[in-house]
Amino acid sequence: MSDLDTHRAALAPLLVKHAKAGILNLIDGQSLPARSGATFATHSPVDDSFIADVARSDAADIDAAAKAAKKAFPAWAALGGEARKKLLHKIADLIVERADEIALCECWDTGQAYKFMSKAALRGADNFRFFADMAPAARDGQSLPTPTHMNVTSRAPMGPVGVITPWNTPFMLSTWKIAPALAAGCTVVHKPAEFSPLTARLLAEICHEAGLPAGVLNLVNGMGEDAGRSLTEHPDIKAIAFVGETKTGSAIMKQGADTLKRVHFELGGKNPVVVFDDADLDRALDAAIFMIYSLNGERCTSSSRLLVQKSIAANFQAKLIERVNKIKVGHPLDPKTEVGPLIHKTHLDKVMSYFDVAKAEGATIAAGGARHGEQGCFVQPTLFTNATRGMAIAQEEIFGPVLTVIPFEDEAEALSIANDVAYGLAGYLWTNDITRALRFSNAMEAGMIWVNSENVRHLPTPFGGVKASGIGRDGGHWSFDFYMEQKNIAIALGTHKITQLGMG
Ligand code: NAD
Repeated sequence: MSDLDTHRAALAPLLVKHAKAGILNLIDGQSLPARSGATFATHSPVDDSFIADVARSDAADIDAAAKAAKKAFPAWAALGGEARKKLLHKIADLIVERADEIALCECWDTGQAYKFMSKAALRGADNFRFFADMAPAARDGQSLPTPTHMNVTSRAPMGPVGVITPWNTPFMLSTWKIAPALAAGCTVVHKPAEFSPLTARLLAEICHEAGLPAGVLNLVNGMGEDAGRSLTEHPDIKAIAFVGETKTGSAIMKQGADTLKRVHFELGGKNPVVVFDDADLDRALDAAIFMIYSLNGERCTSSSRLLVQKSIAANFQAKLIERVNKIKVGHPLDPKTEVGPLIHKTHLDKVMSYFDVAKAEGATIAAGGARHGEQGCFVQPTLFTNATRGMAIAQEEIFGPVLTVIPFEDEAEALSIANDVAYGLAGYLWTNDITRALRFSNAMEAGMIWVNSENVRHLPTPFGGVKASGIGRDGGHWSFDFYMEQKNIAIALGTHKITQLGMG
């Protein structure tokens, strides 16, 4: 039996279970259909086969979930950090136990390759462990004394919060948002993307099984424009942590205005990888390829623009073309597959529409540039060369396995091209000149910069973007700053003179 067949066989009973049960909400500890009874079908991007009917929730379901989260909040917030730590570690243990089930479901539901999803499931467990360990110190503050007052700061959880997630690596991203919220003492209503509901359901089940009290994590499935919108407008929900498209972030900001929602946005990117001629070019090549073609290019931090110095461009490009042509596109459950199908047909059409755009703009399609096969949402890994900075392929987030190469003359030109986009999430820089690396990194408009490296996350560091790529930061205490309120208590020492009024 091949590895692919083994994975298929392991997935089959899981799919039967999901098809039979449907993907239900989890509200106040209860698995429930949408109150209206409405459902929508979810299909696999591998072959368009039916997976399950999913609860199509609306404002009434969101209201029930928000009320459950509100009811559960005082006890959850009052529970000590040590107790929350224990529970969150238990969740991580159960994720590890079910990591293969999560990976298989994620592959089938999203088209992401098993090669990466098996690691992403474990990353989800790491996210829980990391924030579990931070839970006991979540409320800690500072002592800021003056000669007249003792100032004591502390943090308190905000209340019930909403988490809205996208379809790319949805399990890992959900844990990245939900784990710190729970560790901080907030209760959560999670609205996952309509295109990838399977693993959100698994996460809710796992949390429930680990002993998370009813109402602490609620799952409400549905469409962005009804369930998502209602969550952002609900008066009991104090904050919205959102990961998704820039234009959706903008809509959420408007929707949340009347209830003064605190928002945290992780949005789109058009991230540059800048390769200077003094770099370790073999490592730069590996990293540039990994950062755009892994995860099907459906990755916010993908290096979708390659800025390469003219003196090495021809050679670097030739090697790139050779490698891109060898990337293995295939069934996501095959462990050898490097690129699987895109999330759905509309997205496939969007990605492929850029092939015509590129040609019309005068760029060259140096590799790929067509659909892969007849069935499913597969596309060839694609490389555009002879591009210039103003082209749509150099400006817009394509969100697929598509790389645009733009040559540059010198540092000044590279910086100007790197910053000449609406986005500012990540930047990658390849040079062995340390002074240039520092100078360039300081000037690059991005929230995160990796020098001589692909994206390697260290969880205590801040994650997030500038410009149209987001508002706020995740990671370490930055996550707690979002999910918690700061309070200062000033205690007078009884020594200062109070200004007296009404003394005549
Ligand atoms: P999307 O914005 O279409 O959807 C994301 C979520 O928002 C879904 O759950 C959707 O149902 C919901 N939604 C849609 N309209 C809504 C509304 N009006 N009110 C409330 N909720 C609404 O994004 P997507 O297509 O699922 O994901 C891809 C995008 O996510 C890309 O742009 C990508 O760059 C971005 N992303 C960013 C990061 C980051 O860290 N910056 C990480 C992953 C993905």
